[in-house]
Amino acid sequence: MRSFQVLRPTPSSTAVAATIVQTLVALQVLAAPAANAETREATPFAVPSGSPDEYMRAAAQFARQLDPNVEISYWGSETGALSLSRIEGGAIKCILRVSPKISDALRPLNRFLSGRIDPRTQALFAISHEIGHCKLRNAFLKLVDGRAADASVLPSLAQEAAADAYGILSIERSLGESVPIRQAIIVSRMLAAAVFRDTAHTTGRYVSEGLRLCHYNHNDADAVQCAIATAYFTVGRISTDEQGAPFALDSAPEFIYDVGVHKVAATGKPYVDISHYKAQFYERI
Ligand SMILES: [Zn+2]
Repeated sequence: MRSFQVLRPTPSSTAVAATIVQTLVALQVLAAPAANAETREATPFAVPSGSPDEYMRAAAQFARQLDPNVEISYWGSETGALSLSRIEGGAIKCILRVSPKISDALRPLNRFLSGRIDPRTQALFAISHEIGHCKLRNAFLKLVDGRAADASVLPSLAQEAAADAYGILSIERSLGESVPIRQAIIVSRMLAAAVFRDTAHTTGRYVSEGLRLCHYNHNDADAVQCAIATAYFTVGRISTDEQGAPFALDSAPEFIYDVGVHKVAATGKPYVDISHYKAQFYERI
């Protein structure tokens, strides 16, 4: 697994309080706010707009375990979940905006998750997936050799697969592998992609295969490594598919992973360091 070392994050450098860049990282900005007549039918158990339900509260707690500096806010009426990243000093500050109700946070995936995993686990996934986006960006920003890269060199599908892998492993570390989280996510992603033509999140296949690269899940760093590996695997799989699948479908994932690494390396040169990255970013805006 030599090449897995390529992007292992280095320890955090000194925190310099400087807000530099705010970049939209990703994700599930899904449906527009639904006109829902039922909101009039308030019951004693109704959750006021913008106030997280018990599942999303539990998920927020989980998010803070994964990233103690995470900032979480709740949308009033929109559905979905979104992660923003801001560079503060030498690291990513993760900012999440999520629907306060789990029934909204994971649309349309929740239709398929329901019955497979309980609402609390769904909420954990909604939020740890977003944290996964931030961790991936952070890992790219702090390459082992001190250089910096932008995770957006990865196609969005690879970023989504990475975030799924991170979310799955994080939940498995917390709840144990007896909870069928990975099967639920993979199958649900496949179903949602087919039924809703949700092409931005057709991660099921890539996650299913990419997770074979992830042999350890002892801590958060393992999950980040898994996310990175899954991202490269996804790039490699897309590339080999385009070439008419030169590798057998059940070939060792390491080969596909290596294809991804080379493909990404050919895409763009990393920045000298974070300062260089920030300077270049400002030039672009
Ligand atoms: Zn995402």
